[in-house]
Amino acid sequence: NKRKKYTVDDYVKGILDGDRGILSQAITLIESSKFEHQKVAQEIIEKCLPYSGKSVRIGITGVPGAGKSTFIEAFGKHVTGQGGKLAVLAIDPSSERSKGSILGDKTRMEELSVDLNAYIRPSPSAGSLGGVARKTRESLILCEAAGFDTILIETVGVGQSETAVHSMVDFFLLIKIAGAGDELQGIKRGIMEMADLITINKADGNNIHKAQLARVQFENALHLFPQSPSGWSPKVLTCSAIEKTGIDEIWNAILEYCSHTQQNAYFEQRRSEQAKYWMYETINEQLKDGFYQKQSIKDQIPDFENKVLNDEMSSFVAAFKLLEAYFQDIKNKE
Ligand code: GDP
Repeated sequence: NKRKKYTVDDYVKGILDGDRGILSQAITLIESSKFEHQKVAQEIIEKCLPYSGKSVRIGITGVPGAGKSTFIEAFGKHVTGQGGKLAVLAIDPSSERSKGSILGDKTRMEELSVDLNAYIRPSPSAGSLGGVARKTRESLILCEAAGFDTILIETVGVGQSETAVHSMVDFFLLIKIAGAGDELQGIKRGIMEMADLITINKADGNNIHKAQLARVQFENALHLFPQSPSGWSPKVLTCSAIEKTGIDEIWNAILEYCSHTQQNAYFEQRRSEQAKYWMYETINEQLKDGFYQKQSIKDQIPDFENKVLNDEMSSFVAAFKLLEAYFQDIKNKE
């Protein structure tokens, strides 16, 4: 598996030409933990940045089994059928599964995975959520520079990762299924509050009536939430990813949202805020990684931990001493 050695300009040109092989290799650099790869990746991102930003970025979440993969297949084919170019990324920091997880497993995206106007990239493999999320956001920029005009970012609806996805998308879609009267349980209020659209999936066969009932329940529940700063009232729709019904209504709602928020300037304003957010996130992540990965710190931590456990030292003193040692170490190197 000998790879040709590309220069930064080769990468940038390949990406701007829409070369998916080069795009994939550049994303692999983003995902790499090697410092020299990171360095090249950052240069590529810098040069691609002026060509990015011209897409609609959509976050998709839902509990496992809600039908996300099946939905993405149907939705993706709808988008490419309209002449769009779609990239699918994922954030799944939970997994050792990441090799075979949500998007590594393309069996539910049979058609989309061979569609020349679609690009599917599995989640970066396990790491801290902050790290995985940053890598996905950087990959998004390269996908946009490569000409993808619709970006989907999928995450499993079980943890903190929704917040990370929400902080990098324009539109947030929550996929639900109708349950036995307990529609509103088990979803964190915060996730509902993030949603610009909730779709009740699997509205087919015997399930149609239940799905419609769930829709009304969700609509009522959403009324109780404060108005979003976007000025958009979240919608509730039903769909069947398998029968590919209701998909066009969802796409139309997304387009409607975009034109609404572009008119009232919320769209751009939110993107600026997100860019600021990611600056601080990256600082936090890098500081934390730098600290915990430093050998001298690694060596001292067990001892401090023991002292804290044995009440020989307070948590705060231990933390400050370690931080002091870390910054002293950096100073000495300068
Ligand atoms: P994910 O875990 O959220 O990605 O869900 P999957 O896409 O893997 O779907 C989970 C199961 O639900 C699979 O057996 C799908 O075939 C099924 N499924 C997904 N969408 C629909 C739908 O619209 N209708 C029905 N009846 N089944 C569906």
